[in-house]
Amino acid sequence: MPVSLTVLGSGDAFNSEGRGNACYLLRDELGAVCVDFGPTALMHLKALAALEPGLDPDAIDAVFVTHLHGDHFGGLHLLLVDAEFSARRHKPLVICGPRGIEEHLARWYELAFGKVPACRDFDLRFVELDPGEARVVLGRRVTALPAAHTCPGQALCYRFDLPEAAVAFSGDTAWTDALIDLAKDTELFVCDCTEAPGTNPQHLTWEALEPKLDTLQTTHLLLSHLGPSMRRAADRIQCAAGRAGAPRVSIADDGLCLRCGAAAQPIP
Ligand SMILES: [Zn+2]
Repeated sequence: MPVSLTVLGSGDAFNSEGRGNACYLLRDELGAVCVDFGPTALMHLKALAALEPGLDPDAIDAVFVTHLHGDHFGGLHLLLVDAEFSARRHKPLVICGPRGIEEHLARWYELAFGKVPACRDFDLRFVELDPGEARVVLGRRVTALPAAHTCPGQALCYRFDLPEAAVAFSGDTAWTDALIDLAKDTELFVCDCTEAPGTNPQHLTWEALEPKLDTLQTTHLLLSHLGPSMRRAADRIQCAAGRAGAPRVSIADDGLCLRCGAAAQPIP
């Protein structure tokens, strides 16, 4: 089965222009995982499930959280409550993230719904990663690299080295040379590109990325987490990115589905 990526949330923290908070659905022969799970993720996952029989929250084996900002992990308590009271989940779920995610999520859950259940009908396992650590999680080799982003705990970027394709996610980050290693020889690199220069040094912009394009050895650079100014600049970005030697560049949108291979292509 080819690896595919479905964008469930391509927007910034503010749901600008009606786009969802960060969430990416990665599917391969082993099953389905999400990278980040913002507050809108469960809604978008269920909307997709209405179109694809067999895909529902139960189908998600693991969630990889890049960092502990609410727009990236703030839908996890909804996924858990859905699993406990609606989906009646029995299948194990793994939540992978920076050190401290288990405690952080427990506090989040308690604030929203009261006490965390003493036991659930499904096994919930946490995997906490440090920057530079590589692990095999549910059969997938995952490497965490440090992002340059201020948040509770350490922000991480993820790289998945799957048999069929290597796929990387920057999460939120300003420029860091760790992105060069993250993107190296990947078929798809999903990268933060949030706002115009000077507005927020915690994020990447096209102006910061463009001079670095030659260092990003990926087949396809997919810009996401876009604020209004970056989305308005889409034509200019795609035009400027067409130069020889640069990776193919495109702009993420909610619902976009790509097949990740030698040339990541939209699935009609
Ligand atoms: Zn953030």
